[in-house]
Amino acid sequence: MKYILVSGGVISGIGKGVIASSTGLLLKTLGYNVTAIKIDPYMNIDAGTMSPTEHGKSFTCLEPGEVFVLDDGGEADLDLGNYERYLNVTLGKDNNITTGKIYREVIEKERRGDYLGKTVQVIPHVTNAIQDWVERVAQIPVDESGQAPEVCIIELGGTVGDIESAPFVEAMRQFQFRVGKDNFALLHVSLVPSINGELKTKPTQASIRDLRGLGLMPDLIACRCPAPLPLSVVEKISMFCHVGAEQVLAVHDVSSLYHVPLLLKDQGLVNFLQNRLRLDLIRPSDPRV
Ligand code: ADP
Repeated sequence: MKYILVSGGVISGIGKGVIASSTGLLLKTLGYNVTAIKIDPYMNIDAGTMSPTEHGKSFTCLEPGEVFVLDDGGEADLDLGNYERYLNVTLGKDNNITTGKIYREVIEKERRGDYLGKTVQVIPHVTNAIQDWVERVAQIPVDESGQAPEVCIIELGGTVGDIESAPFVEAMRQFQFRVGKDNFALLHVSLVPSINGELKTKPTQASIRDLRGLGLMPDLIACRCPAPLPLSVVEKISMFCHVGAEQVLAVHDVSSLYHVPLLLKDQGLVNFLQNRLRLDLIRPSDPRV
């Protein structure tokens, strides 16, 4: 199983969900079986009890949200709907992880005595519960082929550095060692705003510094920006963020979100992931695509 973690920095609502779904879609067009997990670091068990406006504002979408109801009755974030539509899959309630669900599981285990008298702590008990959940749910077939997925996109809601997301970031830091380097890649979505016509890379530099400080090294930095990035800006981000220029992807404002997969493909996202995750070892991709 290959895992691609999509994290976000600077602010929420910059298109992390769209970039995560688009990445999954590109791999799906190569013939890989793709699934998705959305992590929402709030305490609610699910989005069912949230007001649509509250939910819309708080984490993932700018427009007033509405709850997305999954086939198994799970009430989740709209991003799960994006994944179903982009990847043509059917997801279940376990594909949406919240802090509430993880803590409920850990507390129930503690009450059953599963921890054998140990002190129950965020590290390792909560972080292990997160990793076990991701590994278990990634294996669940999501389309009519009934086959276990080969690639799992994990979208981490919120922004890196938030108190809320800290246990998930730490769990993912450990997870890269659990599954091995060839099986885990990190795509970090950042913002390159234009101030008085000048593109600013400082927020991206700060957000990558936060990420590295938490032990996560970005393989790709997707920069949401108002217009295509000039080479000089890409090179600056490459130099200050310690990645190659080919690891910096520009995702500018587009009139239709369905252009985003092409934008990513044209900048070499697919080739990069194929080499980085050695996807050809799972199965050679269809050369026609
Ligand atoms: P996040 O997951 O970072 O919270 P979303 O993927 O939910 O962000 O996107 C937030 C909003 O921005 C959505 O309304 C989406 O339609 C819009 N959006 C995302 N990417 C782009 C883009 N490249 N161009 C124009 N609008 C975009």
